[in-house]
Amino acid sequence: MPEVVVGRLVLADAVVPGRVVVEGGKIASVEPDESAAAGPYVAPGFIDVHCHGWGGHDATGDTDALSGMARALLRRGVTSFLPTAPTLSADELPRFAERVRAWMPIAPADGAVPLGFNLEGPFIAPARKGAHDPALLRTPADLDPAVIERVLDGLRIMTIAPELPGSPALIARLAERGIVTSLGHSQATLAEAQAGYAAAGRRVTTTHLFNAMSGIDHRNPGLAVAALVDDDAYAELIADGFHVHPALWPIITRTKPADRLVLISDALPLAGMGDGRTRVGGLEVDVRGGRATLVGTDTLAGSTIALDTAVRNLVREGLPLVRAVQAASSNPAALLDAHDRGRIEVGRLAHLVELDDDLRVRRVLRGEAWVDAS
Ligand SMILES: [Zn+2]
Repeated sequence: MPEVVVGRLVLADAVVPGRVVVEGGKIASVEPDESAAAGPYVAPGFIDVHCHGWGGHDATGDTDALSGMARALLRRGVTSFLPTAPTLSADELPRFAERVRAWMPIAPADGAVPLGFNLEGPFIAPARKGAHDPALLRTPADLDPAVIERVLDGLRIMTIAPELPGSPALIARLAERGIVTSLGHSQATLAEAQAGYAAAGRRVTTTHLFNAMSGIDHRNPGLAVAALVDDDAYAELIADGFHVHPALWPIITRTKPADRLVLISDALPLAGMGDGRTRVGGLEVDVRGGRATLVGTDTLAGSTIALDTAVRNLVREGLPLVRAVQAASSNPAALLDAHDRGRIEVGRLAHLVELDDDLRVRRVLRGEAWVDAS
């Protein structure tokens, strides 16, 4: 029996009342249907390429933790994701990679689909370390190449500060293997940032724009400026309202081409758990009112949102729904060359999110089975 999903379909360029027929886990047809105008919004499943955990489950934990994270994310509309490690030790990096690789074939059918993993470190600038453990930072020139070799399989995105010794060569090496460099945690000059984007080639992004990078100084532009004016470079935005003040969001959404903005959660393992204290990557974090900081400091440690909240926030601030959804679905899919998902189009995977009038997740279709929102 084909599944028929009816509602206001969030397509690539418009919201259209219609019906989606699903067969064998894929979209078999998409047709307009005026009678669906009062139905729920139906968006492509969200894809979170930068997420450290969710619902109390840590991406750097064991198989159960990864499964728990995947299940928690699916119930918030995230149908694909990259478990993301903060800076780890040279011993722990390959272990994290091996754990995710071993888990991917047995990831739960009622969870978000893992598409590999993301490493946010260790090649980041000490002066822009954010919540990362300073004792573990390295440059590409001073880490044993054998360690890097052991993490490449399954690696999809790696944050690199382009000004570090050895970074341009590593960025070019990753590009040859189809691995996306994300410039970030960096105090690059404009020229260093531009060289980094050039070395990375076709698909390159920017780690949580404006956070932990040289910003907009009109006499001394740095990475944030390079990211904004390079029309080919993708840029990540944490749209929780804490990491980038909403007053700056139009600077990003009016400057970046519509297909280059990528919403990320940068969520901590305690996301979805309410306020409290936890350990992340060896560091203690406090959460108050959804704002997570390193204990005893005002340094943001990550977010507590999922991508549905980011979409809601952007729409509340005036961005059209189509563009907000695009930044959470088809843009991250294109960044990862995952053209089998991310849009409501015939032939793509039937990863769909039903949203109510307030853009809250009602239920999520992953292929042929629905799960209800948490
Ligand atoms: Zn992060």
